Amino acid sequence: IWNAALLELKTKVNAHNFKTWFEKLRLRECSDETIVLGVDDPFVQVWINDNYMDLIEEAVAHAAGQPLKIEIVESGQDEPIEVENIDLDAEPMAARSARLDGEHGQAALFDFGIIEPPSAADLSELVSAAGMNPRYTFDEFVVGPSNQFTHAACQAVASGSGQTYNPLFIFGGVGLGKTHLLQAIGVEMLRRDPRTRVRYLSAEVFMNELIGSLRQKTMAEFRNQFRNDCDLLLIDDIQFIGGKDSTQEEFFHTFNALYQSGKQIVMTSDKTPQELPGIEERLASRFAWGLIADVQAPEIETRVAILEKKAEESQIELSKEVVLLLATAIRSNVRELEGTLVRMVAQAKLMNVPLNTDLARQLLKRMNIQHERSLGVEQIIRMVASHFDIKPSDIKGSRRTRAISEPRQMAMYLSRKHTGESYPELGRKFGGKDHTTVLTAFRKIEDLVEMGNNEFATAIAELEALLLR
Ligand code: ADP
Ligand code: MG
Repeated sequence: IWNAALLELKTKVNAHNFKTWFEKLRLRECSDETIVLGVDDPFVQVWINDNYMDLIEEAVAHAAGQPLKIEIVESGQDEPIEVENIDLDAEPMAARSARLDGEHGQAALFDFGIIEPPSAADLSELVSAAGMNPRYTFDEFVVGPSNQFTHAACQAVASGSGQTYNPLFIFGGVGLGKTHLLQAIGVEMLRRDPRTRVRYLSAEVFMNELIGSLRQKTMAEFRNQFRNDCDLLLIDDIQFIGGKDSTQEEFFHTFNALYQSGKQIVMTSDKTPQELPGIEERLASRFAWGLIADVQAPEIETRVAILEKKAEESQIELSKEVVLLLATAIRSNVRELEGTLVRMVAQAKLMNVPLNTDLARQLLKRMNIQHERSLGVEQIIRMVASHFDIKPSDIKGSRRTRAISEPRQMAMYLSRKHTGESYPELGRKFGGKDHTTVLTAFRKIEDLVEMGNNEFATAIAELEALLLR
């Protein structure tokens, strides 16, 4: 069976990978239910478990005519992973009492003169040593309705009153401040007590370090640093361990050890625990033991406030109009909002001109940033109709008098440009017209706009100003 499965595997992975991973597997045992494969290198064991298990299972099932359980064991002498002797599904006592003790906010130790507060420079060094960004503090984080709840939860955790929130699980889309908040907890805890042992790392780094330790036979140190030498574990992008069984196994034990001794765990993810693909149920359920909090895309007011804050920090003068334009154009990703601001400021400086709305608009266009605001074709038609004092039904109709056909062509141009819908789709939405009609209108207006200095170009500029408000 195993030889047949190997033949199939050979056809499914490239020669190099086959040699690296599969040729090292030795058949140790084969029964009606289980195939046990041995490897010498624990690294290979982890790698295969995390990356090739599905393929192996499939190939073996084909060869055996039914699915078999596959086990990959290490032939080496390393001690096996120890299993902790606790009831894994009950909330451990130590954690429970820590939780109940921690109901009230704790003052920092230096409030009682027990320790000296760290200087800004010392703190920055501690933060950097822990692999975090000293800029990611609560102070630098702009709070709005989209992130208020999570921000409050993070502050509670950082002030020590958050034992009830263990673990704290933060989820949300890209560029919405998850990493920032996660690190802000670490920075704040270090500020309150510089002796806090903060471990910050992404789930990917966790896996890489795990593999490195297996390889160099330093598992004891690896476990020690996370299970014992750690007061606060901050794991970024936990979704990464989905489908990586050995990493999950190790993280499971890390989680239990920390939780049991009442140590705080905070994780970020792009989805809720239950929605995470390839995460074992026992982990997913643990992730939900404490508090699950989400970050949403910020509202326009928050986006404006974020831009103003970033501009202030970098001592950039920005007019309210430019801020509004940017905040309107970029809606669902703060990183992009920030990045675009920085690039625009750099461009303006390079060109040695002030960053006004005209330039900002040009640059946005050049940077190819679509207005994310869901500008609909209907909305554009209504707007153009009211601007020229005709009816939307005229635009969708077929009359060819100039007073109607010209606004129609402009509406087609704007729709194509700002909704990105296909020509045939636009044809349908303009009352059942051929796609070439829309295409011709688009090209004509585009040429006129590029030429400038004509009534079309002026009208389009006015209409866009209205649309982009
Ligand atoms: P995520 O981890 O959710 O993908 P990040 O935490 O990396 O997002 O945030 C992306 C960038 O946006 C960072 O530079 C961060 O400082 C900034 N940012 C996000 N949200 C805010 C906010 N509410 N206030 C200030 N800066 C923010
Ligand atoms: Mg992140």
